[in-house]
Amino acid sequence: MARIVMKFGGTSVADLDRIKNVARHVKREVDAGHEVAVVVSAMSGKTNELVGWVQNMPKVVGANSPFYDAREYDAVVASGEQVTAGLLAIALQAMDINARSWQGWQIAIRTDNAHGAARIQEIDGADIVNRMGEGQVAVIAGFQGIGPDNRIATLGRGGSDTSAVAVAAALKADRCDIYTDVDGVYTTDPRIVPQARRLKKIAFEEMLEMASLGAKVLQVRSVELAMVHKVRTFVRSSFEDPDAPGMGDFLNPPGTLICDEDEIVEQEVVTGIAYAKDEAQISLRRLADRPGVSAAIFGPLAESHINVDMIVQNISEDGSKTDMTFTVPSGDVDKAIKVLGENKEKIGYDVVQNESGLVKVSVIGIGMRSHAGVAATAFKALADKGINIKAITTSEIKISILIDGPYAELAVRTLHSCYGLDKN
Ligand code: ASP
Ligand code: MG
Repeated sequence: MARIVMKFGGTSVADLDRIKNVARHVKREVDAGHEVAVVVSAMSGKTNELVGWVQNMPKVVGANSPFYDAREYDAVVASGEQVTAGLLAIALQAMDINARSWQGWQIAIRTDNAHGAARIQEIDGADIVNRMGEGQVAVIAGFQGIGPDNRIATLGRGGSDTSAVAVAAALKADRCDIYTDVDGVYTTDPRIVPQARRLKKIAFEEMLEMASLGAKVLQVRSVELAMVHKVRTFVRSSFEDPDAPGMGDFLNPPGTLICDEDEIVEQEVVTGIAYAKDEAQISLRRLADRPGVSAAIFGPLAESHINVDMIVQNISEDGSKTDMTFTVPSGDVDKAIKVLGENKEKIGYDVVQNESGLVKVSVIGIGMRSHAGVAATAFKALADKGINIKAITTSEIKISILIDGPYAELAVRTLHSCYGLDKN
């Protein structure tokens, strides 16, 4: 017998029939004798609808500012999860399973005061653990908690993944199963590379890179939390028949296990290829090469909430002038150029150039730490296809390459096959 947290995303609870199907997944684990807590998202599309209402309300009353109180935003958008938690509890009860719904404040899931993007600070799992011991299933509304001001708080879009991992950590669950509309984490996007393979296991650190680089399976924060608390997390599909053979296999369920790297015995050098579209590159030419220039550039950009990613500074030829290149999301270019213009005196550069519509392709793998030549393989493969590299950055477990947008798919396919990731 084990303790399992099962999380179901929006598409998995999109309508009443899907919720019934989710209840069957839960029943399978309950029947196997496990203690189960379930975390649910809102029905798909629901949160967008609620956000739309919040945004439109001020306009409807003719307010001249679009401002709204973030605490009321949370009160409205958190309701989507409340609905699914109740409906799933009803479905479970109708299958003769002892179950009840929980909202964030009832548990309580305590958060900080950052309404709309709150962070979980503490979860009191005692009551739920007791009731699980008596055979009751807790159906918990994801995405929400209660702030220090005693008001409902939400965790930011996609936050129910984070709720699930946090609940799993608090309940000391053996496993956190994230049920979604894909059946696991792949070596790359299968829509681009049909030969992509489902990974049996991926290390937390690798998943963090995959998630933040555009393999949008899980909210990034949930992976960080899983890594900190070492929550073994499975990504698996809710769309498979709940009673198909192997679905209840405790040690080896279908899906991808995100786990500590020590658990991965046969570590490949490269685990996956991720990409991020709509990147833009900004270059400052002939900057003074002196202490404080980087701070003068990136300080004001940060204050304007512009998310800077790759940063490349060249070593100056004569110690007087240098060039600095960095990337931002394409949507932020105009804002960034404006901020740089306002600070031109202070920074001291000659010209600023920019280019949008670029793509960042990344090769990810913990095995890179102990293998030489991984980057050279990528460069050669891209060269053979005539793909020009605009910028390169590396970390211990990642090589990121900036290229022109139209080459994105070719580059991803090329890298995927040059590291032997294609399935046979
Ligand atoms: N329902 C929320 C959203 O759409 C939270 C989630 O689904 O994870 O962002
Ligand atoms: Mg999600």
